[in-house]
Amino acid sequence: MFDLTGRVALVTGGNGGIGLGMARGLAAAGARIAVVGRNADKNAAAVAELGGDSFSVVADLTAIEAPARALGAVLERTDGKLDILVNNAGTNIRRLPQEVTDEDWATVLDTNLTSVMRLTRAAYPQLKASGHGRVICIGSMMSIFGLPLSPAYGASKGAIVQYVRSLAVAWGQDGITVNALLPGWIETELTAGAKRDIPTLNDSVLARTPQRRWGQPGDFAGIAAFLASDASAFVTGTAIPVDGGLSVHG
Ligand code: NDP
Repeated sequence: MFDLTGRVALVTGGNGGIGLGMARGLAAAGARIAVVGRNADKNAAAVAELGGDSFSVVADLTAIEAPARALGAVLERTDGKLDILVNNAGTNIRRLPQEVTDEDWATVLDTNLTSVMRLTRAAYPQLKASGHGRVICIGSMMSIFGLPLSPAYGASKGAIVQYVRSLAVAWGQDGITVNALLPGWIETELTAGAKRDIPTLNDSVLARTPQRRWGQPGDFAGIAAFLASDASAFVTGTAIPVDGGLSVHG
């Protein structure tokens, strides 16, 4: 039920953080991983660790043609096969709403939302042909909550959840499931800067998270493998918190 042997998974941002955590879970279940990211060295290190016949595609997904081109490069290596698409690459530029520039807005929205739409749209034929296509998108607690320094990020992550719901409805009859994961506070490069800049952040994360710890990339391995597998065939259109209970803490 959880076996992914013979399945191909494209993981954006699969070279580090949460993306690599998910890639590890998918690879452990037997999937072949295409690691897509900007940094060739990080991609190569991830591929070496994941082993099997995983491979790297170097791409900055924000350019208009980049998602389709990256997908093309993946399909060249897999004889046109793609079963699992994990839209994980993401970025944040922390600024108050009154200080957000058009450039900040474009960078965050292009990375977190528009590139996801372009890549997922391009992958539809392969996901449909798979017969058990899977799309996993990464939202955030900012899909639900507001934070003063995250207007663009919050807008992109809120929109991702609605995008997931639209796809789940549109592609239900194609056997494609589409779900979102909503991480809580996870220790990665993305949060390292915030931790440095906001001295109270660590205490506040520990106080607000019922499990009293930061999440780790490894916390995403099992849920990613589950959502990618036949075990989750009737689960679609959901947004599942992976947050140590943060989102239900009163
Ligand atoms: P990291 O900064 O550790 O990883 C981000 C990944 O995205 C990297 O692999 C990076 O690759 C890739 N990436 C970023 N921009 C681009 C781009 N333009 N084109 C291609 N790849 C890109 O972050 P996390 O692991 O923390 O974040 C992963 C996802 O989880 C993001 O969507 C983030 O918003 C979300 N998230 C994270 C939370 C946390 O607490 N960490 C909380 C909620 C959501 P490269 O370095 O090669 O560019």
